[in-house]
Amino acid sequence: MATHDASTLLDLLHNVLETIPDRVWLKDLNGVHLVCNTAFAEHLGATSEQIVGTGDAQWVGADRAIEFRAADRLVIETGKTLTFEGPMPSPAHNDPRMYEVVKTPMRGSNGQTIGVLGMARDIQDRKDAETLLRDTTEQLELALIGAELGCWDHDLRIEKGYFLDERSCAMLGRDPAERNHGRAWGHLIHPDDLPGTLEAMRAHLSGAVPAYEAEYRARHTDGHWVWMSNRGKVVQREPGGKPLRMVGTLMDISKRKQAEADLLATQAQLQASLTAIEHLAFHDTLTGLPNRRMLNDRLETALLASQRNRTHGALLFLDLDKFKYLNDNHGHDMGDRMLQEVALRLQQCVRAVDTVARLGGDEFVVLIQGLSQDPQDAKHHAATVGYKILSSLNEPYALQGVAHTITPSIGATLFLGAAVDGPELLRQADSAMYDAKSEGRNTLCFYGK
Ligand code: GH3
Ligand code: MG
Repeated sequence: MATHDASTLLDLLHNVLETIPDRVWLKDLNGVHLVCNTAFAEHLGATSEQIVGTGDAQWVGADRAIEFRAADRLVIETGKTLTFEGPMPSPAHNDPRMYEVVKTPMRGSNGQTIGVLGMARDIQDRKDAETLLRDTTEQLELALIGAELGCWDHDLRIEKGYFLDERSCAMLGRDPAERNHGRAWGHLIHPDDLPGTLEAMRAHLSGAVPAYEAEYRARHTDGHWVWMSNRGKVVQREPGGKPLRMVGTLMDISKRKQAEADLLATQAQLQASLTAIEHLAFHDTLTGLPNRRMLNDRLETALLASQRNRTHGALLFLDLDKFKYLNDNHGHDMGDRMLQEVALRLQQCVRAVDTVARLGGDEFVVLIQGLSQDPQDAKHHAATVGYKILSSLNEPYALQGVAHTITPSIGATLFLGAAVDGPELLRQADSAMYDAKSEGRNTLCFYGK
């Protein structure tokens, strides 16, 4: 160990005193300054030499000196260190900064207190940082309350490292005290939503996306599911980059999800209504068959197809014979049932590509497409369908357990291409139907023979 003579040691101690960045002073038991460093002296606008041998009153006034003396006495009497925060008055300048002052009893070689050593550290920067942190925290808190957000903190190193704050606990119906209760991440999430949520988490942890964002259902303590929007970010990583900690927010989005579901349901209802309205517009309500409007559409398309393919088509116009009789003798309802039954039998007599329509009353039209290019073959085919219909409709009908019969008169007309339009074709078939009526009903007549 190096040895020093007394003067070297004093120099060293003086150097230590000057090197300490804090303001340091020593007063004797009577409050007279014995020594101080330059930082302290400059604070009072003086030199160490000017201060040594003086009391505080000379520098800070009588009132302040009394306060200082009281603190020094307390230190001397209790023999304990006193620490407090406050300003440090100076006659040299108005110093608004805050200091942490430590006053400690200084003991002589035999242990008795010989004075009070004071140290003052400028803590204004720390105070400013604390104030800023407090303000920022309060602003953040206000923003979180305003946005109805809860917070979470996830220690990724431990299995049960997921911590919810009070508001997050409240969203899930949990006791606020559970905020201190670490849990496994993911165990509250609906199983159907878990894969997507895990994927979002993985994408963020791997660095593929700058933030973690997921929407999922979380289990409320009373058993129901709460829709949550969760957003978070890694805030701490190992030097190697491995994520250590994430923080984030939770928002209850159940109302929004409900509104979305309601909207979808409304849209589906609207779509169903539109479909129903559209169906009503193009169909006959009693039989469900296409109505006159739809027949006109189909007829137009059929004429164009016939023109394109050079194939014949045929239009069959049916009117039931003595239908009024059934209505008058067995009631309108029975008549309706008969019309429905006739509609079914007509559909069974044609192919899916053909159209059976009800024009109204006891009038039906059958549109047959894709017949031969040869007129004779086409007529033969149309007649075959016509007679098939005649024979089918002639079969007895069991309506409410009673057998009824009905027959149709059928007028038919052929077409090729679109030279003759739909209304004219209908008129031709109608005219042929009247021929069938004239010929004694229950028969088929072709337009123009
Ligand atoms: P025809 O052999 O000359 O055709 O005699 P018809 O008795 O069948 O008389 P017509 O075809 O001129 O009249 C059809 C009747 O069908 C008139 C009407 O009372 C009845 N009718 C019209 N629409 C409906 C309906 O929706 N339901 C029922 N049950 N009857 C209807
Ligand atoms: Mg009739």
